[in-house]
Amino acid sequence: MKLDQIPRPIADATDVVVAVRACGMVPNLGNVLANWPTWYPHMPLPKLPAIFGLDPAGVVHEVGNKVVGIAPGDRVYVSPVRSCGCCQPCLRGLRTQCRYMTFNGYFGFQKESQVLYDMYPEGGFCEFMSAPQYAIVKLSDNVSFREATRLGYWGTAYSALKKAGSLAGKSLLINGISGTLGLGATLIALARGVTRIYGTGRNRVLLERVKALAPDRIEIFATNGGGVADWIKSQTGGAGCDVMLDTLGAVASLEAFDDAMHGVRRGGAIINIGGTAGKLPIDLKWLMDEQMTLIGSVWFTTSECCELAEMAAARIVDMSILEHEAYALSDIDAAISSVGTGNGGFSNYLVEP
Ligand SMILES: [Zn+2]
Repeated sequence: MKLDQIPRPIADATDVVVAVRACGMVPNLGNVLANWPTWYPHMPLPKLPAIFGLDPAGVVHEVGNKVVGIAPGDRVYVSPVRSCGCCQPCLRGLRTQCRYMTFNGYFGFQKESQVLYDMYPEGGFCEFMSAPQYAIVKLSDNVSFREATRLGYWGTAYSALKKAGSLAGKSLLINGISGTLGLGATLIALARGVTRIYGTGRNRVLLERVKALAPDRIEIFATNGGGVADWIKSQTGGAGCDVMLDTLGAVASLEAFDDAMHGVRRGGAIINIGGTAGKLPIDLKWLMDEQMTLIGSVWFTTSECCELAEMAAARIVDMSILEHEAYALSDIDAAISSVGTGNGGFSNYLVEP
């Protein structure tokens, strides 16, 4: 990446301009930059030169003349979801279901995404970015900008777990519990009353750190691929767990997903928020007979992010466990290269303009 000087954006109508104080460096950005056009040609990146950066937080600098509820000086997180705003899903607040859904500063989900990149050219790796008011999440003073850069990944976990309904008294398998998504899912599930969490991962040291968050409620299993379903069954008297959340990354094997989902009990839910790609043969007879629910979930609504930000402010979901690895904007290439080398989901890589 290269630093450049460009004109500062101006807040138009229902838009705001945010002075960015921190922007998350997500583990997947290296994949997006290097591999997305080959792996997923139907998911376009912004035309270059472009400003990337998925998870920005900062201070509102200026608001458009049709904004009434947001003011300069407000501390905010900016959700990167951009959408048309006028289709039925958008009107219900479900912007991730809009056919135009695009991740500002990251990648799009359909060929028309460039239209939205053109409207909002700044991702979070810059000093000032424009954003629509529907993307703004206000932050309490006790949630730092550094912590807020994790709202994207943890919000993804939050929205996914909400889709499973009430977790009170339930058991949950998190496939990849020590990663960026998995750690957030753990804290959120504990806050939402889950009784038992079963977590898998490869790094035993990180698994022990996760277990220490709630030793009486978290069980861990170090895996090199395979054995997860048998382990869950052995822990649950043969029944299986209520819900499974898969958080494994883009290069994870389909077998790992297949194995873990067979640790879910009859009538349970399987939710995918990881990056595992490819066609998974599913026994439809099993799906029917066992009355399984299989759910795909992407990102979250801005409203859900507001809920999570409030839970973070109340320390019901404690973001202070994060270890921040901050880089200057001029060191952004080092930040891209370093992400993923630290302590799994505990390490929070970010860039500070
Ligand atoms: Zn729409």
